[in-house]
Amino acid sequence: MALQALRGTSDVLPEAITRWSAVEHTARRVSRCYGYQELRTPLIEDATLFLRSVGETTDIVQKEMFRFEDRGGHEIVLRPEGTASVVRAYLEGHLHKTEGFSKLFYLGPMFRAERPQAGRFRQFHQFGVEAIGSASPWVDAEVVTLCVEILRACGLADLTVLLSSMGCRADQARSAEQLRERLRPSLQELCKDCQGRFDKNVFRVLDCKNPACHALAWKTSGSPRPTGSHGIRGSGGHEEVGRGSPFVLCADCQAHFEQVRQALGAAGVGFDDTAVFARGLDYYTRTVFEVRAQGLGAQDAVAAGGRYDQLVEELGGPSMGAVGFAAGIERLLRAQEHGRAPSDEQRSRRGVYLAIAQPALAGEGFRLVQQLRSHGVCALMDYDHKSLKAQLREADKARCQFVAILGEAEVKQRAITLKDLEQSSQETVPLEAFAQTVAQRAKTAAAACHA
Ligand code: ATP
Ligand code: MG
Repeated sequence: MALQALRGTSDVLPEAITRWSAVEHTARRVSRCYGYQELRTPLIEDATLFLRSVGETTDIVQKEMFRFEDRGGHEIVLRPEGTASVVRAYLEGHLHKTEGFSKLFYLGPMFRAERPQAGRFRQFHQFGVEAIGSASPWVDAEVVTLCVEILRACGLADLTVLLSSMGCRADQARSAEQLRERLRPSLQELCKDCQGRFDKNVFRVLDCKNPACHALAWKTSGSPRPTGSHGIRGSGGHEEVGRGSPFVLCADCQAHFEQVRQALGAAGVGFDDTAVFARGLDYYTRTVFEVRAQGLGAQDAVAAGGRYDQLVEELGGPSMGAVGFAAGIERLLRAQEHGRAPSDEQRSRRGVYLAIAQPALAGEGFRLVQQLRSHGVCALMDYDHKSLKAQLREADKARCQFVAILGEAEVKQRAITLKDLEQSSQETVPLEAFAQTVAQRAKTAAAACHA
């Protein structure tokens, strides 16, 4: 039996790559436009990194990490997410000393040992940004706006932004105590995991995959939020964030949240701050958000993120604010028109197919093809003695913009026939000027090669 890719992993075959590259290109372009710079971190990390950041009681750490021991007995994991690695790299690369406030983005595979299903894989890909070194609510708003703009630029129209605040660590301690009090009478009804989480990290009950725990935690949390357009009012006392949210905010966190909402309003980004949702990672403080898209079924979160003001310090750096998000590329692609690839007619023609009239001309043809490539023009030729007719069929299949035909007579005259399939025109070009002429004429092809 032929071998197969592991469950929850998949190949991206050439026909799908066009759409992957387009999404990656768009994400990079929009992020750079906002002043974010790319960084790349290893796929394997010391297990401690995620224990200390994502949190020991989270599902990711308890159930979803691929962990193994290397030959020296060190505990290694395949990275399940990007934020912890980016903060580690930020500190290890001394960016806190040389750059201070840094706006970074990454793109790459993440690994989680989850039950594979639609929109949930064991190897999946994330595009993410992290703005490290500022506590300003404007940065929260910038990150949410950037996230929405990337998704829109990728063609996703029907987006819902859920926005909430989890408060600072002091708020979280107070809120945890309250949630524990409310849950205590139903403790026996919680699953085994949640009974363990109850003392260690009661918020994890909020995102338990067991519906009974989930329902109990949310049902018993909070009271109806005050009526009014944005829910949070007053600046003196502690108030709950939204209907059913277990997080009770101090005055500073309320003010921060209010400024984020105002900034998002100014940026024209719509959001829902009444929905209740939890983030399954421990490092979040204050602003958290999730972006949902249409057509994804149960796994409809296409991107999620938030502020993590303690993480840099918790990983050994100075105390500094930070905020980021990660978008799932597979879910994003699925949300784009539910996965339709552009038809041949929609794919624009690019590059040159160099056809040779006889196998004996292969040497001259190969030299010209290499010349074209060194001029940045995508160039193809046949290496298998195909007939001229078959070569022309291949040129069409490969959606080439030009076909150059090299015959014996042409070689004698030091010239070549160049057909533009898009314009349906034909001319004879001197061999000496061939590569330059084509490069100039095929600017779009050159651009595509270098993209
Ligand atoms: P979910 O609630 O769907 O499990 P999550 O809270 O675990 O998501 P994050 O850790 O916030 O997800 O990751 C951000 C984004 O990465 C998600 O919104 C989703 O688009 C994508 N993602 C997360 N896990 C997977 C997975 N196993 N397969 C595919 N995409 C994923
Ligand atoms: Mg998850």
